[in-house]
Amino acid sequence: MIESLYLNDSYLKSWTAKVVSVKDGKFIVLDKTVFYPNSGGQPWDEGYIVKNGEKFRVVYAGKFSGKISLEVNKVGLNEGDEVSCELDWERRYTLMRHHTAAHLLSAIIYKNFHAKITGNQLGVNRSRMDFSMKDYSIEKMRATIDEANQIIEKDLPVSSYYISREEALQKAELTHLAKGLPEDVKEIRIVKIGDVDEQADAGTHVKHLKEIGKIELLKTDNKGKNNRRMYFCLNE
Ligand SMILES: [Zn+2]
Repeated sequence: MIESLYLNDSYLKSWTAKVVSVKDGKFIVLDKTVFYPNSGGQPWDEGYIVKNGEKFRVVYAGKFSGKISLEVNKVGLNEGDEVSCELDWERRYTLMRHHTAAHLLSAIIYKNFHAKITGNQLGVNRSRMDFSMKDYSIEKMRATIDEANQIIEKDLPVSSYYISREEALQKAELTHLAKGLPEDVKEIRIVKIGDVDEQADAGTHVKHLKEIGKIELLKTDNKGKNNRRMYFCLNE
């Protein structure tokens, strides 16, 4: 069983672990990890695995057959090694701020326009959100960003908790999601922003909305009938 420490503490930056397996010299599985694997629109974490003072740079983290596999820049790690790990915190924290901002924006877009998010890709410089929306206008999007920035000023808390599959089936907004999950998924992690949003999510988030900073609309694109694409960045 591999422990994904980031699920319960997204602020953890260093930890010790044991190398469970090594494939082709450079693909490492640890028993405990804080390196978030590329998934759900949130890019992978980077950082270092350190063995006896020697640093191995983690250049990619992905999930394969349910295991988080870390690609390092050189060979030298072996099964059974006791290592210490360091997260590239600046990169991760920026992605956390973008992820929470994306949840807040999707909640407002849904509340005001009943528009559903169809895709998203977070980034360290800018993030992208796709949604289907009739009668779109740039003014509506500007108003959405303004509303989000006002909510950020309230500094609402962000938290996560788990509910069972059965509980999720009772909640109207989660029923669809719960039904789509494989049978062996017994628990669903929910990320909650104050009283404005709850979403099933396995990503990493900030604890307080003010950490996001200020959301700035960069541009919007038309991606076909009712399909819109929006780019935003964050300012301190
Ligand atoms: Zn999310």
